[in-house]
Amino acid sequence: MAVPFVQDWDLVQTLGEGAYGEVRLLVNRKTEEAVAVKVVDTSRAKDCLDNVKKEVCVHKMLSHPNIVRFFGHRSEGPVQYIFLEYCSGGELFDRIEPDVGMPEKEAHRFFQQLIGGVEYLHGIGITHRDIKPENILLDDKDNLKISDFGLATMFRHRGRERLLTRLCGTLPYVAPELMSRPEFHAQPADVWACGIVLTAMLAGELPWDQPSESCQEYFDWLQKKTYLTPWRKIDSVPLGLLMKILLHSPEDRMTIPDIKKHRWFSRSFKSGVKRQNDVHGPLTKMLRSDSEQLQLARTNSDDRVQISSSQPEPQGLWEVREDVVHTEGGQVSFSQPACPDHMLLGSQLLGTPGASQNPWQRLVRRMTRFFTTLNAEKSCAALRDACIAMSYTWKQTCTNQATVSTMDRRNNKLIFKVHFLEMEERILVDFRLSKGDGLEFKRIFLKLKQKLSDIISNQKVPVPFT
Ligand code: ATP
Repeated sequence: MAVPFVQDWDLVQTLGEGAYGEVRLLVNRKTEEAVAVKVVDTSRAKDCLDNVKKEVCVHKMLSHPNIVRFFGHRSEGPVQYIFLEYCSGGELFDRIEPDVGMPEKEAHRFFQQLIGGVEYLHGIGITHRDIKPENILLDDKDNLKISDFGLATMFRHRGRERLLTRLCGTLPYVAPELMSRPEFHAQPADVWACGIVLTAMLAGELPWDQPSESCQEYFDWLQKKTYLTPWRKIDSVPLGLLMKILLHSPEDRMTIPDIKKHRWFSRSFKSGVKRQNDVHGPLTKMLRSDSEQLQLARTNSDDRVQISSSQPEPQGLWEVREDVVHTEGGQVSFSQPACPDHMLLGSQLLGTPGASQNPWQRLVRRMTRFFTTLNAEKSCAALRDACIAMSYTWKQTCTNQATVSTMDRRNNKLIFKVHFLEMEERILVDFRLSKGDGLEFKRIFLKLKQKLSDIISNQKVPVPFT
């Protein structure tokens, strides 16, 4: 898919994929600012254009430290571009170790921020409808950012609430009333999804495929069998909170004000919670592999994006949030590097003011990567053999890239991409989920890592959480 981009902005890498397009990272060659652009080809599905318009319409209204910032939007024929705050910390699911979760104090902090973002959304009458760790991103300071407003909608307008009727979201995260009632309130359904996210953070697994009595795990939960997994892995205080959030009846379920009063939510964890909410505009941040060590942020005095544009009608080029983006005279160039991911280490970037950056600073933080002791070709062959031995489908898409597909434990399709990148004269094998469940992807990554243990370098990937 062609990706036009404004002069002075380099396309650095693909950050992720969605059903109808990709999210890519742009970095300003002069200012070193970074922005994520979601590229959606609306000709690929019938309702796609309306959906993108709705997503833009909702997202442009939002402004909160725990919501991904919306910077602007533009269309080029059937292709829509949504410019967003770049979240270099990656996805929340990547911080969840399968079957383990994460330290309680981290989960606590993320949950507080998640509830903060959802409370804000509900306060202005918006429901997200697809809260899950894959749609929750982290910035360079590990602040949580709710993303992907593709399913979001307004449930309250001028003080009048409307009930929702559409079953949407992702089955393990949907509330039971969505499956059993023709109409339901929006807020308790989002609260439910937050409870499932908390469970995933504390136990490293999702409690059920779907919240229906035909599903044994959900049936057991209704019987309060908390001695079963995942509940037995969770401390009694947060479990007490989950028991009130994951209540079958939406009328009895805890509301956000109740959650905020709960003793686990309001408790403090003494050490380790050192990161504060971001006070600077995230677009002005440079990419960092380790936010503790590197000070690369370049902040504009007015904290705005400056995008050069030579179009006679710059306003027509960008549909922008005027308070965030302003356009200037200049040129718009449309170009597409042959294999954009190669630009990660490409000369175009290395020859610019951003050249002082170490390539690590251009990589989104991920746990799903390792160094090998072999060259690229041999690393690729070893991984291919391991995938084939595990009956995964292997397809080499570029010299340094492959796509792997399989079915997960729940029999859902799982597709991921693997890049072989030369970093500091070694080969970094970087795995990124394309389609499917984030936790299942992590499980498969760990299995492959185990299988390849004899070619994995002991040297640690110098990125936190690896
Ligand atoms: P879906 O099909 O799940 O609705 P989508 O097309 O709406 O997907 P997103 O979920 O918004 O796309 O983004 C896909 C992936 O791209 C995310 O899971 C994330 O890994 C990455 N991504 C999205 N936005 C950003 C961002 N602002 N900063 C960094 N990475 C991002």
